[in-house]
Amino acid sequence: MSETKEILLYAEITRSKYIHTVFFELAQKALELAEKLGGCKISALLFTEPNQLENFKDGFFKSGIDKVYVFEHEKFGTYNTDLYSKLAIELVNEIKPEIMLIGATNEGRDLAPRISSALHTGLTADCTDLDINEKGQLAATRPTFGGKLMATILCKTLPQMATVRPKVFKPLKEDIIRTTEFEIRTPSLTDFEQRTELLDFARTLENEINELDSAEVIVAGGKGVGTTEGFALLKDLADALNGTIGATRGAVDIGLAPKSIQIGQTGKTVRPKLYIACGISGAIQHLVGMQDSEKIIAINTDENAPIFEVADLGIVGDIFKIIPELMKHFSK
Ligand SMILES: Cc1cc2nc3c(=O)[nH]c(=O)nc-3n(C[C@H](O)[C@H](O)[C@H](O)COP(=O)(O)OP(=O)(O)OC[C@H]3O[C@@H](n4cnc5c(N)ncnc54)[C@H](O)[C@@H]3O)c2cc1C
Repeated sequence: MSETKEILLYAEITRSKYIHTVFFELAQKALELAEKLGGCKISALLFTEPNQLENFKDGFFKSGIDKVYVFEHEKFGTYNTDLYSKLAIELVNEIKPEIMLIGATNEGRDLAPRISSALHTGLTADCTDLDINEKGQLAATRPTFGGKLMATILCKTLPQMATVRPKVFKPLKEDIIRTTEFEIRTPSLTDFEQRTELLDFARTLENEINELDSAEVIVAGGKGVGTTEGFALLKDLADALNGTIGATRGAVDIGLAPKSIQIGQTGKTVRPKLYIACGISGAIQHLVGMQDSEKIIAINTDENAPIFEVADLGIVGDIFKIIPELMKHFSK
């Protein structure tokens, strides 16, 4: 084991070339965990094309990261399963972190199990909370049995690994300025077997998942939306506001929306600037996934619907009348 304990965070770079917001949420949690461990180094793993590091440095300076292991190569413009996982495994074997945290994004969900299985260590996926127990172990909590129970899982081997859903932890409230060391490595990649190659990105409804993680505006529909045409209306409103759509389990269960955009206890947790709830009653299992949104607008025909209790602005009415009116307003 290395002398100074280390928490390693994976710094995912999005297709728009910024550090994924989940990294800053992990950084906040890592600071808390480091304190509970009696102080330890917080480092990050970054893959990037050459000469791009300057664009990301500020994000690391301001989030309390002590050291960044930067792997540079022209092939690192987009995620590559084989290359990223092999280099990450080599790094973990070398620096032996106590804990490794990765965002539960599509990319993180691909990368994390490859690392943990190669290292024969445990991985708790899709965590909703992380803590340090009295023995100094990572206590990773996640829903189980379809969301009916919360399980806290310990890992007996190192590194203790976890993936965390975006928006579950709050990002850093204020900048934590640290002197960050950047260690640049330029792997030759000649010995690496690359079995997969990314040819293109095709847009499918599944892409909405990723968008939900970072969207500033979410228009979410419930059973009250009634039809797939109703959801198309919601999509129009979301597009007008440069946002994306989400759904309740009620809407998913009757086939109005794919499970991938379900918000709530057994779906995604979101925290956009604006959440517009359309035809959603406001069951507790839905509220836990969206109630920390900055502003909530609810549209419901039932003035006693519980959603109005968490809404900043409530509109009692039929979405099929209200949304077209809102669209007229926004198009001005
Ligand atoms: C273990 C477990 C896990 C769960 N996980 C989740 C989860 O992750 N996410 C989740 O969402 N739910 C979850 N649920 C289900 C949850 O309990 C509710 O059943 C669900 O959220 C209800 O969805 P809804 O609001 O779309 O439907 P409903 O409760 O049926 O509400 C529909 C609303 O639409 C309104 N309405 C109808 N027509 C219109 C109209 N034309 N205009 C405006 N309003 C209209 C109605 O007044 C009503 O309030 C879970 C349940 C369990 C037991």
